Amino acid sequence: MIARIIDGKTVSADLRGKVTDAVHRLRRDRGVVPGIAVVLVGENPASQVYVRNKSKAVAEAGMHAFDRKLPASTSEAELCAVIAALNADETVNGILVQLPLPKQIDPHNIIAVIDPAKDVDGFHPLNVGRLAIGLPAMVPCTPLGCILLAKSVHPSLAGMEAVVVGRSNIVGKPVAQLLLAENATVTICHSKTRDLPEVCRRADLLIAAIGKPEFVRGHWLKPGATVIDVGINRVPREGGKTRIVGDVAFAEAREVAGAITPVPGGVGPMTIACLLLNTLRAACIQKGLPAPNV
Ligand code: NAP
Repeated sequence: MIARIIDGKTVSADLRGKVTDAVHRLRRDRGVVPGIAVVLVGENPASQVYVRNKSKAVAEAGMHAFDRKLPASTSEAELCAVIAALNADETVNGILVQLPLPKQIDPHNIIAVIDPAKDVDGFHPLNVGRLAIGLPAMVPCTPLGCILLAKSVHPSLAGMEAVVVGRSNIVGKPVAQLLLAENATVTICHSKTRDLPEVCRRADLLIAAIGKPEFVRGHWLKPGATVIDVGINRVPREGGKTRIVGDVAFAEAREVAGAITPVPGGVGPMTIACLLLNTLRAACIQKGLPAPNV
């Protein structure tokens, strides 16, 4: 079997198009323009690229992008003050603080001061808790993207055996909560899981979020399984250059799986599209408007 490729570029472009249309309608019919503040502290080159891409996507969707660039020497109290001002600003519907933060700042303290209604990353403990108890919540973007990709293959995930490899707060745990909310039967694996290949072989739907290049092998998969690869790993290639690979050995997995996301071009593009969706949703909730039809 050669797996179908789940094209994250196409699915994300479709979602971004729908969000852009909804933003246009919101501006035309209600005079509301969703706005997001992306806060970057310091000069981490990877973070600078992410923030630039996010701001560009926000502008392309017709939303307002309020970038806040702060020096690497910013104190925790100073960053909290910036966030307090953004919380109070009615034109700002979403706040995203780019991680990692410089070492003098505890990210948990920063996430905790973001207004949960503006927490478009879905990292605030209130949103984490609401998701866990099945209440409407702001949901982290990458996990939401994984679910949308899985649903592009299986419109209903109900009753599926889903295995999540990785239990981070950013990906593994929230994606497992979302799968549970979709009525999948969910197993969460981590570095202490016994006989990981055997557990993976149970999966109708496998989500890998490990951070280890091509760690999940083809013979670990149930034939016909759907594989969502969250990993982004830079590995050396000939000529002193590098390339990006996922957490799944793609060439092998493609021979066994029924459908699989490539890296790059799978989960990656969904993260920004879901950030736009979250910002649109946040703006509608804050303005007391019905949820957008996206
Ligand atoms: P993380 O915080 O480092 O978590 C990795 C998880 O993998 C941990 O739960 C760890 O288990 C588990 N793990 C490590 N080695 C393992 C092993 N040998 N067997 C089983 N489980 C193992 O990473 P993350 O933030 O979730 O990110 C995971 C990957 O996704 C990274 O490659 C990252 O770059 C990528 N990512 C991509 C996007 C995107 O937009 N596409 C967004 C976020 C992250 P323990 O808990 O036991 O240590």
